[in-house]
Amino acid sequence: MKITVLSGKGGTGKTTIATNLALSLENVQFFDTDVEEPNSYLFLKPDFADNEQTVWRKVPIIEQSKCNSCRKCVDFCQYNALAMLGDEVLVYPEVCHSCGGCKHICPQDAITEEKRSVGKINWDLDIDGLEYWQGELTIGEASSIPIISKIKKEIKDEKLVIIDAPPGTTCPTIEATIDSDYAILVTEPTPFGLHDLKMAVELVEDLDKPYGVIINRSQQEADGIIQDYCKKNGIPILLKVPFKRQIAKLYSEGIPFVEELPKWKDKFREVIDNL
Ligand code: SF4
Ligand code: SF4
Repeated sequence: MKITVLSGKGGTGKTTIATNLALSLENVQFFDTDVEEPNSYLFLKPDFADNEQTVWRKVPIIEQSKCNSCRKCVDFCQYNALAMLGDEVLVYPEVCHSCGGCKHICPQDAITEEKRSVGKINWDLDIDGLEYWQGELTIGEASSIPIISKIKKEIKDEKLVIIDAPPGTTCPTIEATIDSDYAILVTEPTPFGLHDLKMAVELVEDLDKPYGVIINRSQQEADGIIQDYCKKNGIPILLKVPFKRQIAKLYSEGIPFVEELPKWKDKFREVIDNL
């Protein structure tokens, strides 16, 4: 089973839930796909040793001697990665999405491609039985999709897969969710939390994924805002993690709370059993 843990925004405790969930289960493969700022390593403490691979993508190069300045490639590119300066085509590789379209349509065959490094992946195959993978985007690169796609190739069918998605509801989050069997939406009981939960719900509905909600920093007097919304829309609330000083303190020390409060392992296991 592949489960993606996502939230409509950052700061809801998505990584806290994903890492504690992973540590409560057996035979887990964990993927940190928040490649702009992977941080689950802070809690799971992998040892990468030499386990590192560069991720490449292809970007166009213009052979100006063949180019007749027809502009077809410039007009074609939806990402404004090509521009005409006088008779010359300029390439902005940072914003190119490596779709290959410009090369395909050039009538002069004036476009070739070169490899460009966009980031890296790291892994530790055995953190006390847990297999860990993370991607990291090079600063300044615009698209994290090639890195997320690359680590997803390591998914093993015989494992229980937990994917910590990037925050938000844009392309990288879709890429992290699209092949999953179930989506866990992490939220917090605030108006902002509800606003972003609604965006996350829209995303998983569009992708046609079954899903449920975990309320992080739950407080009885505040939870109503999320509970009412979930009840009205028939969305199951899978678990509530309370707003407690002890949990916050463990988080600030980089300690997964299931390690100090083992009863939470049972609660997370129950969530997965119910799924
Ligand atoms: S499509 Fe080809 S020939 Fe036309 S401007 Fe682009 S590179 Fe030049
Ligand atoms: S490969 Fe695609 S995104 Fe990149 S410059 Fe060409 S058309 Fe634009």
